[in-house]
Amino acid sequence: MTAMRSYLDHNATSPLRPEARAAMIAALDAGGNASSVHREGQLARSVVETARAQVAALVGASADMVTFTSGGTEANALALKGAGVERLVISAIEHPSVIETARAAGAEVHVAPVTAEGVLDLDRLDRVLARDKRRCLVSVMMANNETGIVQPLAQVVELARQHQALVHTDAVQGAGKTPIAWPILGVDMMSLSGHKLGAAQGVGALVARDGLTLTPLIEGGGQEKKRRAGTENICGIAGFGAAADAARVRDEAARLTVLRDRFEAGLVDLAPDAVIFGAGLERLANTSCFAVPGLTAQLLVIALDLDGVAVSSGSACSSGKVGRSHVLQAMGVAQDLAAGAIRVSLGWSTREVDIERALAALKTVIERSARRAA
Ligand code: PLP
Repeated sequence: MTAMRSYLDHNATSPLRPEARAAMIAALDAGGNASSVHREGQLARSVVETARAQVAALVGASADMVTFTSGGTEANALALKGAGVERLVISAIEHPSVIETARAAGAEVHVAPVTAEGVLDLDRLDRVLARDKRRCLVSVMMANNETGIVQPLAQVVELARQHQALVHTDAVQGAGKTPIAWPILGVDMMSLSGHKLGAAQGVGALVARDGLTLTPLIEGGGQEKKRRAGTENICGIAGFGAAADAARVRDEAARLTVLRDRFEAGLVDLAPDAVIFGAGLERLANTSCFAVPGLTAQLLVIALDLDGVAVSSGSACSSGKVGRSHVLQAMGVAQDLAAGAIRVSLGWSTREVDIERALAALKTVIERSARRAA
């Protein structure tokens, strides 16, 4: 990012960390195929295994539970399709990579609603699970990518256990932003994505407990213990490991909370009627999702971009267009308010000056629209 720009869209992708860049450049010269027995192959193998241990350490798992994939989307698909269950229960606020995969998985799908606060409705989950005793997988994200609201995973695991269901969590947004202790969490599978942590795009992992049977999505060579065939993306994997290591060593939640709170205090000063989704709830330290009544997301995103600040609309879909946010809709947020939702997401590269620049840019838009309205 240039010095004059403030990138506040880490939930979309986090800029490459210097540690990841260095590891990737070194890995480009690793030379061999990690499946080869010669020295060059073994060098490549050691890069992959170092990264596997680093990724496992980030979530408190052991290295042999980690299967590298092409990203969070593929990890979610491997979990949902590979588990071979007859029923899938997902929350209404899952990422499209879970919702669409569930629909395509060939299992019966139940969507468990969230409360108006954006938290999974556990009573409804309990009822859905009790209704049918067929083999079931519950997939609930660790924290939502639009609002940052943390989901009650411990209770989800408890309920799932009572009903003999498996649990998968999409921890793509939670990992590196909130501490994760795999043994305490008690899930069966967890998805991770490199680029949300400061690695390159196109690499991720599924962490799965020992003994779980998973049918691969991609068959071929015996890589990744036959869970994911194909010659490993050594460079991407090396960067993922280094980014995971940096995220673990430098826990930034406290620093980001101060910056996020400063942003939200400034926002409310500028627009006392601003609505901050999930304020007061357990949220990721880096995420602020808000709407200012009367201002559309499109207007805000473009105006901020012209002033050097990159944020996204709370409802931006992968095509870049502003659509209707299924997350805010599931929370029952009124359509016109949801149409103004903006997501500001901070990360390792965010400094105080970025927050001040964002607030200054917001002030300009808010004052301009107030003059127009007058
Ligand atoms: N899950 C969540 C919660 C996400 O936010 C994203 C990316 O936006 C993904 C999954 C998909 O990850 P990837 O981009 O690595 O495929």
